[in-house]
Parts: sequence; structure tokens; C-alpha cells
Amino acid sequence: MIKVSIIGAGPGGLAVGLLLAARGHEVDIFEKDDRVGGRSQAVTLGRYHFDLGPTFLMQVDVLRAVFAAADLALEDYVKLIPVEPLYDLIFKDNVFRPSRYRDKTHTELERLFPGELDHYERFMRDEATRYNKIAPLMQRPFEHWYDYFKPDALKALPHIVPFRSVHGKLKRYFEDANLIHAMSFQSKYLGMSAWKAPGFFTMLSYLEHAYGLYHVQGGLNKINDALADAIRALGGRIHLNTPVAQLLTQKRTVTGLQLENGETYPADCVVANADFAYFAHNLLDETLKIPHAPRKLHTMRYAISTYMMYLGLDKRYDLPHHTFVFADNYAQSVKTMTEKNTLDTDITVYVHNPSLIDNTLAPPGHSALYILVPVPNNDSQINWESYKITFKATILKRIEEKLGIYDIEQHIIEEKIMTPLDWEKNHHVYKGAVFNLSHTFSQLFYFRPHNAYRSLKHLFLVGGGTHPGSGLASIYQSAIITANLIDPK
Ligand SMILES: Cc1cc2nc3c(=O)[nH]c(=O)nc-3n(C[C@H](O)[C@H](O)[C@H](O)COP(=O)(O)OP(=O)(O)OC[C@H]3O[C@@H](n4cnc5c(N)ncnc54)[C@H](O)[C@@H]3O)c2cc1C
Repeated sequence: MIKVSIIGAGPGGLAVGLLLAARGHEVDIFEKDDRVGGRSQAVTLGRYHFDLGPTFLMQVDVLRAVFAAADLALEDYVKLIPVEPLYDLIFKDNVFRPSRYRDKTHTELERLFPGELDHYERFMRDEATRYNKIAPLMQRPFEHWYDYFKPDALKALPHIVPFRSVHGKLKRYFEDANLIHAMSFQSKYLGMSAWKAPGFFTMLSYLEHAYGLYHVQGGLNKINDALADAIRALGGRIHLNTPVAQLLTQKRTVTGLQLENGETYPADCVVANADFAYFAHNLLDETLKIPHAPRKLHTMRYAISTYMMYLGLDKRYDLPHHTFVFADNYAQSVKTMTEKNTLDTDITVYVHNPSLIDNTLAPPGHSALYILVPVPNNDSQINWESYKITFKATILKRIEEKLGIYDIEQHIIEEKIMTPLDWEKNHHVYKGAVFNLSHTFSQLFYFRPHNAYRSLKHLFLVGGGTHPGSGLASIYQSAIITANLIDPK
């Protein structure tokens, strides 16, 4: 039996905790917050319930595999609700509603993008082939440079080497600019621009179109509660309100951790789930010569951030589950944010209205609306304290113009706003870069901080900052990889 201490009860920490507890190991999870979930935690404002972060659940099989490894069935813990249509994509001149059903997407394509149906089918066929080659690399560790020369990597290499960006790749399939945006905006899930994200991330739109998206009754945060319940049932312990202050080491071997209250916990191994750059900056002793010393961390690339509004409204809004209002000049607006690190006035707004299909989130006749706007991370130096109210007005005006809803302000009963500063200060997210280290080729696979941390023995990583990357499915996958490295059963 291995004594494992985990720093953070985010989706990654919980998933690895469950996998290790199910194998009979002694699991202690230390979480600074009063609840589990991290960036995916529940937010409750009066009688309204929200997800703090993730609202898109895809590749559910990875999560099913985590539960199955503990001899449990995901569906016994959470109620999955398929989302249909996938989303409303509102462009300057039209609205595209792709579906989880291929024939419905075809009808939409013929209606809006005549001549592109064959292109779409070719893309989906090619992407299925490519995905089958790339997926194995997401399911195993990348600890050595020679991992690129294993047979599965050699098969996938032509597809993962970024000869083209996501946008560049899609331009070879589609002609209509809006359709290209519809199949590439998913790069935002990585906190990146489609013009910079490595081409193989076209797999994201493929996965959505091929396998659909899900909502979880009560919010995606219920997955964290389910994982936590299962861990406790197996004898694992989750210590809430228990921030970790530092890692304990002896001769480059991790021996445990020290809490902010001064207590020490010896452990056979430690798994860090806290945001990687925050962790490396704050919990590792500066005198340890590690490859991710602050100077190095500073030169790495980071994702964008988000401005968030959670609104409890005493009116039922018949908005779709997911709506994206694209900036009128989407390409320019993305470039301004990701390359110049400033905020364009022409913004893209994501509106999430889950209370329409889930009556547990708001009282009858009311809505729990979640609004997300991609914004630069804290390198931008935007003074959010003074700008956040002006920005709220800009967003509501955009919603008025594009969705024809003019009365949101009048119906607000509860409200919470989060800016990139809050992500950094309250959630320990370095630079407020909520989608973690950027997913450039130079920070992926072997070049991403390894699941078994290279230069400190008995230290492991899990979550969006390690292989294979950010997003819930990748994070659950990182938990499987890390658990197998700790206990290669
Ligand atoms: C706004 C937003 C929207 C997103 N949307 C989606 C989506 O739709 N779909 C999707 O798949 N993904 C989405 N993501 C990305 C990703 O899935 C989530 O961010 C996810 O929660 C990250 O999980 P994690 O395990 O890597 O880390 P985290 O969730 O950040 O968990 C880390 C944990 O460590 C804790 N911690 C930090 N410091 C300490 C310390 N010193 N001591 C103890 N504990 C500590 C934190 O409190 C936290 O609980 C979104 C993220 C955000 C922010």
C-alpha cells in the first residue's frame, strides 16, 4: 500500500485519488477551498446554481473509464443529459446550429453553406482516421524523448507535427469563413487562437460533431461530488479548507508536504493537482534546481483568461443551452487578444442557459445564466477592478444587440462577476491563464511538465498542466496516466 498525498481536489486530483483508492492505496487529498472541484466547482447564489468553469462535457468514455477502474458505473452517480443542438453559433450574417445527429447537421449545412456538405463529410472521414492514430498518444505518458520513436508515435507523428494551424488546416477543407470559424472556435477551449493552435486540435470539433456534448443534471460540478463520494466510500480522505504550504524533500526525493497551519504529512509520493505554474512558483523550494524555476516559468507561454458573469434572474429566458455570439470581425478580435494581449471592443460572448433543460438550477420561471467572455490573461495589465463594471455593460449591450434581449439588468436577483484577477488571487491560477500552459507544440507531449515529475523523485502531476493537457477529458486521462505511473498494475 502506497501512502499518497494529493494537493488539490480539482477534477484531476479527484480522479487520480479515486483510481489510487480503488487500488487499495492510502489517499489523502488536501484542498484549500471549502469545496471540491477547483475551477470546476459549484457556485451557489441564493436559489441559483452554476458551474464555476466547465459547461461542455465531451468524450464521456474517459470519465466512464475512471469510474469503471474503481468497479463503479458513472451513470449510477450522475445523470447525463445529451445537448441538442450542440450550440447556436451567431455570426454577423447568420446562425448555424450543428447537431449531434449527422442528418440534421447536413440540413443546416445545405441551408447556410451550399456546396460545403461534401467538404464536411471529407473532413469528418479524414479526422476519424487521424484521431485513431493520435488518441493512443493521449493515453500514455511522454517521459522520454525517445517516446516519439515508439511505433504508435511514428504512426501519429505526421499528424501531430504542426505544419499547419487549426485554421490553416480547415481552410484546406472549407471555403466559407463562418464555417471555418464554426469548426475551429474550439481552440478557445485550450485558451488559444485557431490561427496558432497546432492543426491536430481540429479533433475537438470532430469529437463534438461525432459524439455530441452532454450536460450533467445539477451542473458538471456534480461529477466532482460523485468522485469525492466514491473516494470517501473507499476510505480515502479529503481535507477541505486545508491549504498546502510547501513540499517536503530530502536529496531530491519528495517525502511529504507541509500545510499552511504548520502540520506536516509524510507520504510515499505526492501528486500536485494545483495549477502547475502556481505550484512550481509557490510550493517548491527555490533552492531546488528544477527545470521549472520561476525564471523558466516566466518564459513559457500561457493561455488566455475569461471574464465571467453568473446571473440569477427572476425570468425564464428561452435561450439555447449553449450560444456563442461571435465578434463581427472574429479573426481580428482573436488576434488582438492573443497576439497583442489587449481587449478588442468587438467581443465574442458565450451564454450558457442550462436551467431550460435542468430544473434543479433555478426556481420555476427563473433562469441561472452563465456568461463567459474570453479576455487576455494578466500579462495584459488591464485594471479589472476599475474596468469590470464598464465591461459588464459592454457585454449586456452585445447580448441585447445580438440576442434581442433587452431586460436582463431588470431581472437580476443574484450576481457574481469574476475577472482574470480573481482567477489568479482566489483560485491560484498563474496569470489567470485558466486553460493553463499554452498548448503549443513546444509545450505538449514530451515538452509538457511530465506526469512523473522528472527532477524530483516521488513527485507526480495531474490536471491541465501536465500531459495530455487542459479540458476535462484530457484531465481525466492525465489521472489514468499518473495513477498507472504510481502503481503500474
Ligand atoms: C471558465 C472555464 C471554463 C471551462 N470550460 C470547460 C469546458 O466547458 N469543458 C472542459 O472540458 N473544460 C473546461 N475548462 C477547463 C478545465 O476542465 C477546468 O479548468 C478544470 O477544472 C481544471 O482541472 P484541474 O484538475 O487541472 O485543476 P483545478 O480545477 O484548478 O484544481 C486544482 C485544485 O488545487 C487547489 N489548490 C490550489 N492551490 C492549493 C494549495 N496550496 N493547497 C491545496 N489546494 C490547492 C485548487 O483550489 C483546486 O481545487 C474550463 C475552465 C474554466 C476556468
